[in-house]
Amino acid sequence: MTLHWPDEAATAAFAARLAQLPGTAAAFIALHGDLGAGKTTLVRHLLRALGVQGRIKSPTYAVVEPHRVDAREPALDAWHFDFYRFDDPREWEDAGLRDLFASPGLKLAEWPAKAGALLPVPDLDIAIAPRDDDSRDATVTARSALGRTLLQGLAP
Ligand code: ADP
Ligand code: MG
Repeated sequence: MTLHWPDEAATAAFAARLAQLPGTAAAFIALHGDLGAGKTTLVRHLLRALGVQGRIKSPTYAVVEPHRVDAREPALDAWHFDFYRFDDPREWEDAGLRDLFASPGLKLAEWPAKAGALLPVPDLDIAIAPRDDDSRDATVTARSALGRTLLQGLAP
């Protein structure tokens, strides 16, 4: 599915729709695109729409930033990964990343390619590309049965 997001409000509207799908709470969503494409922006709007309150820090120096929404029933765990600076596979074991990916909850990963084959196949790939007018093209691809369910729920 290919989408056009004219401005950040369009990104936020997409995030709000994604947040409403039940399957999102258990999905692994990989985010692709160059620096400044809008990956973190999408993550922030999605976490906000899911009920995360307070400041939403970027995990750039920590690889992973955990979030929890206790107000939901059941409570929602969400992990925001940024593998931009990931260069040593030992980080994968040391930070317990394998366990996080095996846990229930939402996983959002920027720069998944930098973690190479350590990452499981995502449910959804979202690739974001800026146009010259600063709007964004977004391509959403399903990679699993859950991903296909999400994609159907997102179809206009
Ligand atoms: P990334 O995480 O991909 O490096 P960021 O989300 O940190 O990128 O930064 C993207 C920048 O582009 C932010 O300044 C944000 O306000 C802007 N932006 C994000 N989405 C859109 C959009 N759909 N249209 C216009 N600007 C956007
Ligand atoms: Mg980012």
